[in-house]
Amino acid sequence: MSDLLTRTRERLRLRLPVRAAAVALVALAAVSAAAAARAPAARPAGPIPGPRAAIRIVAAENFYGDVARQLAGPAAQIISVLRNPSADPHLFEVDVPTARAVAAADLLIYNGANYDPWVGRLLAATPAPARRVIEVSALLHRQAPGINPHLWYDPATMPAVARALAAQLQQLDPANGDVYTQRLRRFLESMRPLDEQIAQLRSRYAGAAVSATEPLADYLVAAIGLQMREQRFQLSVMNGTEPGARETAAFESSLRGRQVRALIYNRQAGGSAVQRLLDIARQAHVPVVAMTETEPPDMDYQQWMLGQITALGRALSGSQP
Ligand SMILES: [Zn+2]
Repeated sequence: MSDLLTRTRERLRLRLPVRAAAVALVALAAVSAAAAARAPAARPAGPIPGPRAAIRIVAAENFYGDVARQLAGPAAQIISVLRNPSADPHLFEVDVPTARAVAAADLLIYNGANYDPWVGRLLAATPAPARRVIEVSALLHRQAPGINPHLWYDPATMPAVARALAAQLQQLDPANGDVYTQRLRRFLESMRPLDEQIAQLRSRYAGAAVSATEPLADYLVAAIGLQMREQRFQLSVMNGTEPGARETAAFESSLRGRQVRALIYNRQAGGSAVQRLLDIARQAHVPVVAMTETEPPDMDYQQWMLGQITALGRALSGSQP
């Protein structure tokens, strides 16, 4: 599968920066140890270090970081690595601050399914026996090679993630066990409007055909019961390879012929082939729905997904079958 080949190539390309970051990390540790050895025995400047209260959580992706925030509360220190709304997370390269954060984390959560292969290498480069790790694809038993990695678009994912996070937090901070149980209950409750909206769209539009420029929202589209077209083209875009001429032509003619009720596109992954499809869709009056790979900085997961589901519903209602 070309998808796997590209991924392997991507992995090879990413290996160097990871090693460089790990080397830099070791160098940093050596520098600070030397500085500590030279420091006078007087009281250190700044706050006196006391017992560490905050749980340190690193989320490889900001949607998991947000759910961790909702469960862990304001006292936890949370770092989300992939959060830039104008960057393509598939092309991320590790830097030193990320390597340091992973090394110091009490709890690390990441997607897996080859979406963030840099995490596994950082975990190996910074062994920490006490660090707890949640790999979402393993949690969901979704690890088949070549699987669509955009698991957070599946409405079943975040409730399972929230349960796993709450269980880990209860072990890290048993004194506040009840608080995490309450927050989990509140989180699961807050997901209900999404399920209701999905059920409503399903009852109206199940079986309708849609298309997308990247396989970003496939799990959501499947949950609504829609048919996803042009999947080969989407894999090429996701993997950063040029889509084939035949599949591009088929995609264009299905838009011109209005064989799909909506075109979903990933605002964070573009390119000229995608832009051309958007132009054709607009000319043919096929509604275009913008979605994003990472969570926008001013929203929580529930608002973000509900907004996107609503936008898809609006597109479906406005288009002719
Ligand atoms: Zn993607």
